Amino acid sequence: MKRRAQTLAFRGPVEHRHEADGHLRAPGDAVVVRRGVDRSLTMLCPDGCGETLTINLDRRAGPAWRLYVDGEVVSVYPSVWRNTGCGSHFIVWKSHIYWCDLGEELQSMDEEFVAQVLSSLRPTLQPYLHVAAELDVVPWAVLSACHRLQRQGLVREGSANQRGWFGTV
Ligand SMILES: [Zn+2]
Repeated sequence: MKRRAQTLAFRGPVEHRHEADGHLRAPGDAVVVRRGVDRSLTMLCPDGCGETLTINLDRRAGPAWRLYVDGEVVSVYPSVWRNTGCGSHFIVWKSHIYWCDLGEELQSMDEEFVAQVLSSLRPTLQPYLHVAAELDVVPWAVLSACHRLQRQGLVREGSANQRGWFGTV
Protein backbone atom coordinates (compact mmCIF):
# COMPACT_ATOMS: atom_id res chain seq x y z
CA MET A 1 0.00 0.00 0.00
CA LYS A 2 1.19 3.50 -0.82
CA ARG A 3 2.10 5.80 2.01
CA ARG A 4 -0.69 8.31 2.61
CA ALA A 5 -0.12 11.81 3.92
CA GLN A 6 -1.79 12.69 7.24
CA THR A 7 -1.36 16.43 6.89
CA LEU A 8 -1.77 19.10 4.27
CA ALA A 9 1.42 21.18 4.07
CA PHE A 10 0.43 24.67 2.96
CA ARG A 11 3.14 26.19 0.76
CA GLY A 12 1.45 29.56 0.48
CA PRO A 13 -0.15 31.44 -2.38
CA VAL A 14 1.04 31.72 -5.97
CA GLU A 15 -0.43 33.85 -8.72
CA HIS A 16 -0.52 31.36 -11.57
CA ARG A 17 -1.20 27.66 -11.80
CA HIS A 18 2.14 26.89 -13.49
CA GLU A 19 4.03 28.37 -10.53
CA ALA A 20 2.50 25.75 -8.27
CA ASP A 21 4.53 22.78 -9.49
CA GLY A 22 7.83 23.96 -8.01
CA HIS A 23 6.23 24.06 -4.55
CA LEU A 24 4.71 20.59 -4.66
CA ARG A 25 7.25 17.96 -3.64
CA ALA A 26 5.62 15.56 -1.21
CA PRO A 27 2.10 14.09 -1.06
CA GLY A 28 -0.16 16.61 0.73
CA ASP A 29 1.84 19.68 -0.33
CA ALA A 30 -0.57 22.38 -1.49
CA VAL A 31 -0.62 25.95 -2.74
CA VAL A 32 -3.51 28.30 -3.36
CA VAL A 33 -3.65 30.04 -6.73
CA ARG A 34 -4.81 33.54 -5.93
CA ARG A 35 -5.33 36.43 -8.30
CA GLY A 36 -7.62 38.93 -6.62
CA VAL A 37 -9.68 36.03 -5.32
CA ASP A 38 -8.84 32.41 -4.52
CA ARG A 39 -8.93 30.52 -7.84
CA SER A 40 -7.90 27.00 -6.87
CA LEU A 41 -6.11 24.84 -4.38
CA THR A 42 -3.45 22.83 -6.17
CA MET A 43 -2.27 19.82 -4.27
CA LEU A 44 -0.04 16.83 -4.77
CA CYS A 45 -2.48 13.96 -4.21
CA PRO A 46 -2.07 12.97 -0.55
CA ASP A 47 -2.38 9.25 -1.27
CA GLY A 48 1.00 9.28 -2.98
CA CYS A 49 -0.22 8.41 -6.50
CA GLY A 50 1.86 11.30 -7.84
CA GLU A 51 -0.97 13.19 -9.53
CA THR A 52 -1.63 16.87 -8.96
CA LEU A 53 -5.18 17.78 -7.92
CA THR A 54 -6.75 21.10 -8.79
CA ILE A 55 -9.60 21.93 -6.45
CA ASN A 56 -11.72 24.80 -7.73
CA LEU A 57 -12.34 27.63 -5.24
CA ASP A 58 -13.92 30.10 -7.63
CA ARG A 59 -17.72 29.94 -7.82
CA ARG A 60 -17.70 31.73 -11.17
CA ALA A 61 -15.87 28.72 -12.65
CA GLY A 62 -18.40 26.09 -11.56
CA PRO A 63 -18.91 23.99 -8.45
CA ALA A 64 -16.48 25.31 -5.86
CA TRP A 65 -14.96 24.21 -2.58
CA ARG A 66 -14.42 26.64 0.23
CA LEU A 67 -10.95 27.18 1.65
CA TYR A 68 -10.54 28.28 5.26
CA VAL A 69 -7.12 29.64 6.14
CA ASP A 70 -6.18 30.47 9.71
CA GLY A 71 -2.51 31.43 9.70
CA GLU A 72 -0.82 28.28 8.40
CA VAL A 73 -3.79 26.09 9.23
CA VAL A 74 -6.04 25.08 6.35
CA SER A 75 -9.47 23.49 6.03
CA VAL A 76 -11.39 22.63 2.87
CA TYR A 77 -15.14 22.05 2.55
CA PRO A 78 -16.72 19.78 1.35
CA SER A 79 -14.65 16.61 1.07
CA VAL A 80 -12.45 15.99 -1.97
CA TRP A 81 -13.49 12.91 -3.91
CA ARG A 82 -11.64 12.08 -7.11
CA ASN A 83 -13.91 10.33 -9.57
CA THR A 84 -10.96 9.49 -11.81
CA GLY A 85 -7.49 8.06 -11.27
CA CYS A 86 -6.79 6.89 -7.73
CA GLY A 87 -10.33 7.67 -6.48
CA SER A 88 -9.04 9.29 -3.28
CA HIS A 89 -11.73 10.58 -0.90
CA PHE A 90 -10.60 12.73 1.99
CA ILE A 91 -11.47 15.61 4.29
CA VAL A 92 -9.05 18.41 5.14
CA TRP A 93 -9.71 19.95 8.53
CA LYS A 94 -7.18 22.03 10.46
CA SER A 95 -4.50 20.81 8.03
CA HIS A 96 -5.17 17.19 8.99
CA ILE A 97 -6.21 14.76 6.26
CA TYR A 98 -8.97 12.34 7.23
CA TRP A 99 -9.42 9.36 4.88
CA CYS A 100 -13.08 8.68 4.23
CA ASP A 101 -12.56 5.08 3.04
CA LEU A 102 -10.94 4.27 6.39
CA GLY A 103 -13.88 5.89 8.21
CA GLU A 104 -11.53 8.16 10.16
CA GLU A 105 -13.41 10.23 12.74
CA LEU A 106 -13.01 13.98 12.90
CA GLN A 107 -11.45 14.66 16.28
CA SER A 108 -12.93 17.50 18.28
CA MET A 109 -11.38 18.33 21.65
CA ASP A 110 -12.81 21.79 22.23
CA GLU A 111 -15.46 21.33 24.96
CA GLU A 112 -16.48 24.97 24.88
CA PHE A 113 -17.20 24.79 21.17
CA VAL A 114 -19.12 21.52 21.53
CA ALA A 115 -21.32 23.23 24.14
CA GLN A 116 -21.84 26.15 21.77
CA VAL A 117 -23.01 23.77 19.03
CA LEU A 118 -25.38 22.05 21.44
CA SER A 119 -26.96 25.39 22.35
CA SER A 120 -27.39 26.18 18.64
CA LEU A 121 -29.29 22.96 17.95
CA ARG A 122 -33.05 22.66 18.30
CA PRO A 123 -35.40 19.66 18.63
CA THR A 124 -36.16 20.03 14.90
CA LEU A 125 -33.49 18.50 12.65
CA GLN A 126 -31.38 20.91 10.64
CA PRO A 127 -28.32 20.44 8.40
CA TYR A 128 -25.01 20.89 10.23
CA LEU A 129 -23.98 23.20 7.39
CA HIS A 130 -26.66 25.68 8.50
CA VAL A 131 -25.34 25.65 12.05
CA ALA A 132 -21.82 26.25 10.70
CA ALA A 133 -23.04 29.23 8.67
CA GLU A 134 -24.81 30.63 11.74
CA LEU A 135 -21.68 30.30 13.86
CA ASP A 136 -19.39 31.29 10.98
CA VAL A 137 -17.06 28.33 11.48
CA VAL A 138 -15.64 25.49 9.38
CA PRO A 139 -18.47 22.97 8.84
CA TRP A 140 -16.22 20.03 9.87
CA ALA A 141 -16.01 21.55 13.35
CA VAL A 142 -19.80 21.42 13.68
CA LEU A 143 -20.03 17.91 12.23
CA SER A 144 -17.46 16.55 14.66
CA ALA A 145 -19.19 18.29 17.57
CA CYS A 146 -22.55 16.81 16.50
CA HIS A 147 -21.08 13.30 16.34
CA ARG A 148 -19.58 13.73 19.77
CA LEU A 149 -22.90 14.97 21.19
CA GLN A 150 -24.63 12.06 19.49
CA ARG A 151 -22.31 9.58 21.24
CA GLN A 152 -23.21 11.32 24.52
CA GLY A 153 -26.90 10.79 23.74
CA LEU A 154 -27.65 14.52 23.60
CA VAL A 155 -28.21 14.82 19.86
CA ARG A 156 -29.78 12.69 17.14
CA GLU A 157 -29.05 12.51 13.42
CA GLY A 158 -31.68 12.11 10.73
CA SER A 159 -31.66 9.15 8.35
CA ALA A 160 -31.89 8.68 4.56
CA ASN A 161 -32.06 12.12 2.94
CA GLN A 162 -31.71 13.74 6.36
CA ARG A 163 -28.25 12.31 6.98
CA GLY A 164 -26.12 15.18 8.22
CA TRP A 165 -29.17 16.81 9.85
CA PHE A 166 -29.02 17.06 13.62
CA GLY A 167 -31.37 17.99 16.44
CA THR A 168 -31.49 17.80 20.19
CA VAL A 169 -32.98 14.70 21.81
ZN1 LIG B 1 -4.09 9.98 -5.69
